[in-house]
Amino acid sequence: MSTATAQDSFQFQAETTQLLHLMIHSLYTQREIFLRELISNASDALDKLRFEALTNTELVPDGHKYEIRLKPDEANRTLTISDTGIGMSRQDLIDHIGTIARSGTQEMRKRMQESQSAESVADLIGQFGVGFYSAFMVADKVAIITRRAGEATATQWESAGDGSYTLAEAEKASSGTDIILHLKKPDAENGIEDYTDRWKLSMIVHKYSDFIPYPIIYEGPPQEPGEPESKEIKIETKTLNSQKPLWTRRRAEVSDSDYNDFYKHVANDWTEPLKVLPLKAEGTFELEALLFIPAQAPHDLFYHGSESGLKLYAKRVMVMEKCEEVLPRYLRFVKGVVDSSDLPLNISRQRLQQDRHITQIRKWLTKKLLEALAELKEKESEKYLKFWSQFGRAMKEGVSSDYENKDKILPLLLFESSHDAKELTTLGDYVGRMKPEQKEILYLTGESRKVIENSPHLESVRQKGYEVLYLSDPVDELMVQSLHEFQEHKLKSVTKGRFELGTDEEKKQAEEQMKQKEEEYKSFLEACQKKLDEYVKQIRVSSRLVDSPACLVTEEHEYSPHLERLLQKGKGGGPKQRRIMELNLAHPIIQKLHDRFKSNSDDPTLGDSIELLFELALVAEGSEIADPVRLNRLTLDLLQKAV
Ligand code: ADP
Ligand code: MG
Repeated sequence: MSTATAQDSFQFQAETTQLLHLMIHSLYTQREIFLRELISNASDALDKLRFEALTNTELVPDGHKYEIRLKPDEANRTLTISDTGIGMSRQDLIDHIGTIARSGTQEMRKRMQESQSAESVADLIGQFGVGFYSAFMVADKVAIITRRAGEATATQWESAGDGSYTLAEAEKASSGTDIILHLKKPDAENGIEDYTDRWKLSMIVHKYSDFIPYPIIYEGPPQEPGEPESKEIKIETKTLNSQKPLWTRRRAEVSDSDYNDFYKHVANDWTEPLKVLPLKAEGTFELEALLFIPAQAPHDLFYHGSESGLKLYAKRVMVMEKCEEVLPRYLRFVKGVVDSSDLPLNISRQRLQQDRHITQIRKWLTKKLLEALAELKEKESEKYLKFWSQFGRAMKEGVSSDYENKDKILPLLLFESSHDAKELTTLGDYVGRMKPEQKEILYLTGESRKVIENSPHLESVRQKGYEVLYLSDPVDELMVQSLHEFQEHKLKSVTKGRFELGTDEEKKQAEEQMKQKEEEYKSFLEACQKKLDEYVKQIRVSSRLVDSPACLVTEEHEYSPHLERLLQKGKGGGPKQRRIMELNLAHPIIQKLHDRFKSNSDDPTLGDSIELLFELALVAEGSEIADPVRLNRLTLDLLQKAV
C-alpha cells in the first residue's frame, strides 16, 4: 500500500461541487450503478493501456495481467476497485477528476439545477450518467491511488465530496488505479446496501458489467452462510463476469438486457437504445459489428465538435476509441463497436483514412444501416417516428452529403405537409396524392409551420387543392438544394419563379392572359416599381394570390427569404436581395389604386400605398420590415383618416 507524504489541498471547480452536492443529496434508489461506472472507467483504462502498449512495448512488463479487482473489507467498511490499466498522473487527476470535463456532465448539472423535484433529479442521473462522481452516492470519502504507466511516482487523491480534495505523493508497486471507497452505513430506507457483500457485488457485476472484456475478480472472504468466524483470514478469488464480447455472439444467444447494458457501457448513455443492430460480414472482408441507435440525440449532436461514438477493434483488441472513419459524418449518432479481422493492430488515424478495408467497411456499414432504418420505418413506425424526431436532421444532412446513397435516404425522409395537421408524410406518399396533371412536388420553407401556413403564397395553391410540404427546419433549405427531384418529380418552391397550376392547356391560357394583363397595366406597374426600386427589381402580375393584394417572390435560382434571413443571422450577414413583387389584380385595393393612377398618374397617395403594401408583404412572409419608421408613419396616417 502507500504512504502519503506532503499533502496539497485543492478546491473542486465550482460546477463539480454543485453537482456532487446535488448527487449526494438526491433521493436516488439505484445507487448500485456506482460500481458499473467505476468498472467502466477501469475497463477504459485497460483498453487505453493495451492500445498504447502496441507501439510502446516497454509500458507493460512481461506477463502483465489486464484485470479489475474488487476487494471488500467488511471490518473497515471499505471497498477497493483496482485496475491494472493506464493510471493517472497528478495532472490527470486534476484535469479529469477535479474538473467536469465532459460536456454531458455540464449539461446534466444545468438541467439538475433547473429541475425542482427530487424525482426528476433521479431521472436526470439516469439520463446522463455522471461517471466517477457516482462513487459519492455510496461513500462518505473516496481515495484514489494511481500511477500512470511509464511513470515512476504515484499520486493519492482524496475527497469527502464536500468541495475540496487533496493530492499527495504516494507509492504504488505497479501502474494502474485503486479506488478506495469508505462506504456509507447500509441504510435500506435510503437504498444504501452492503457493498462489501460478496453476493451483492457479484449480482451487480452480473447485472451491469458481464460483457466487460477483462476479468472482474472478487477478492475477499468466501462468506459462506452460517460458517463460524475463523481466526485465519481466508481470501477467495473468483472471476465474476463472463467477458464474452457481445458482438461475437449470435443475436439469439444474447438477451435484450445484455445488449442494453453493453450499450450503456460503450455509449456512455443511461437510457436504453432505440434499436440494436448486430451485423456480420463474411467473404471479401470479415467484420463483426454491434451498432446501436440511441433513443435520444446527445445535446451536442448538431454542434461542430460532436464526436463519433464508434469503437474500432481489430481481432478483439480496441484500436481506436472514437472512430469517425467507418461511417459517414451524418450517421455520427450511431454508437457501438466495429471489429474487423483485416486491420493491423497499430494503424494510425492517417493511414486509416486511406485504408482500402476501411473504405469497404464504411460502404457496407452505411448500406446496412440505411436498410435497417428502412425496415424500422416499414415495420415499427412508432419507433421510426421517435428516431426521426431525434435524428431526422442528421438524415437530411445525408441528402446533401451522401450522393451515393441518395436513393436510399430519400424514402426515409419525413415532412410536415398541408395534407395533415399532425401526421408527417413521405415523398412517396406525397407523389401518390398528386393531382393527375401535377408534375412538381411543391414546398415552402419558413420559420415555423404557423408562419408557413399563413403565407400569402399558398392562397391559390390551397384554393385549387394542391398539397404543399412545409419545411421549417433550418437544414431544410440546404437539403432542398441537393434534393432536386424525387421519382422524376422536381421539387418546386411556391415562392420562386413564375407559377401556374393546372393542365398544360390551362397553364398556357393563364400565361397568355397574364401577358395581356401585364401589357394593359404596364405603366401602372412601372410607376410602382419606380417607387420601390431600392428594394424591388420587378413588379408583376401574380397568379399565386386570392385574398392578399401582394406578395414577394424570388427567381428560381435565388435564395428564399427564409434562407436569406438565416444567412443574415450568421457571421458577417448574408446578401440582401432585391425581390420581385407580385400584385393581385383582382384585389379591390389594387383595382382602386389602378383607377386612381389612370385618372391622375401623379397622385401622391399611390406611392405611399404601394410602399405600405410592400412592407405588409414582408410582414406576411415573416421577414424583417424594410423601413420601420416609414411603416409606422404610413400606418398612423391611415389610422388618423379611419378614426
Ligand atoms: P468518463 O468515463 O465518461 O470520461 P468519468 O467521470 O467516469 O467520465 O471519468 C472521468 C475521467 O477520469 C475519465 O475520462 C478518465 O480520464 C479518468 N479516470 C477515471 N477512472 C479512471 C481509472 N480507473 N483509470 C484511469 N483513468 C480514470
Ligand atoms: Mg466513466
